[in-house]
Amino acid sequence: MADYRIAAIGGDGIGPEVVRAGIEVLRAAEQREGGFSLTFETFPWGSDYYFEHSRMMPDDGLETLKPFDAIYFGAVGDMRLPDDVTLWGLRLKICQGFDQYANVRPARVLKGVTSPLRNPGNLDWVIVRENSEGEYSGAGGRVHRGLPEEVAVDASVFTRTGCERIQRFAFELARKRPRKKLTLVTKSNAQRHGMVMWDEIFAALKGDYPDVETDKVLVDAATVRMTLHPDSLDVIVASNLHADILSDLAAALSGSIGVAPTANLNPEGRFPSMFEPIHGSAPDIVGKNVANPIGTFWTAAFMLESLGEAKAGARIMRAVERVTSAGSPLTPDLGGNATTDDVTRAVCEAIAGENE
Ligand code: ATP
Repeated sequence: MADYRIAAIGGDGIGPEVVRAGIEVLRAAEQREGGFSLTFETFPWGSDYYFEHSRMMPDDGLETLKPFDAIYFGAVGDMRLPDDVTLWGLRLKICQGFDQYANVRPARVLKGVTSPLRNPGNLDWVIVRENSEGEYSGAGGRVHRGLPEEVAVDASVFTRTGCERIQRFAFELARKRPRKKLTLVTKSNAQRHGMVMWDEIFAALKGDYPDVETDKVLVDAATVRMTLHPDSLDVIVASNLHADILSDLAAALSGSIGVAPTANLNPEGRFPSMFEPIHGSAPDIVGKNVANPIGTFWTAAFMLESLGEAKAGARIMRAVERVTSAGSPLTPDLGGNATTDDVTRAVCEAIAGENE
């Protein structure tokens, strides 16, 4: 029987609350499904850890995480610390150290959840974000700080290897979905170097995937298409910055930022992949037991699917949608007045009570 070792990192803000809830749901799925087991180890890394140890995670943190099969992550961010300390000290350290170059973000409107769009149609997308370079490469600098002649440079770094591997990943993913459609998003009219290389690589790779329908659109026009013609999109591939922005839009259009999951994948499996809800630390609602845990449940389903337990993942999603379609219990962001605990209990009961 397969035993999967999961490293759980709640992180900051509502992260620990939703990860705790997610582990309960994973346990319920493990019991109901049978055939595999899960072993969790929880790490208290994040901003509180930083105040005690002057670092977000131990120096040998990556070595500690390496033998795990997956990382189940909450959120990072704390108003008392600059984002580059929190983000670069934990989440990005793991993403970059484990070469998790494919950030995958599914978006669809769950049963019973209302999209802010008048005509969401068949809104069912996966956004594939390049997660290792591009606009977030960290290359750049500042000189003459504070003076009128100060200069600040953020350099976008696009490599042929980086572009090609993420685009191939997106083609392979599109090929496995019913619609087999892939849209390339760039801004090659204004960004004349890296983005043009993205276009050229896409044009060259297309020939290897004749079964995948392709098109391309500029990032500004992509926001219009997502809003007015959601049916026209299936899998979307874009750079680190563009896909970051588009995936928040996708989450909002699918009902609430509290429901959407994401995965930071090292597709070759050389390192563990990391799974997390797309929302952040939500400091405004921390400790109030109102955080929507559904994004973390969908994340759990995604993690199980990636581990090869797709049936158990689908079981979690059926239970989630049984609760959302019943309209209760739901947290305030989805128009309800239930707590995180109420929703967690309801989803666990739906898993345990399913008759097949
Ligand atoms: P960070 O800097 O960590 O990204 P943030 O506040 O900028 O934090 P989010 O944490 O994503 O960004 O929060 C954006 C808004 O969405 C906040 O009002 C927050 O309360 C709300 N929100 C985020 N996650 C959830 C959730 N799981 N349930 C309910 N509301 C949420």
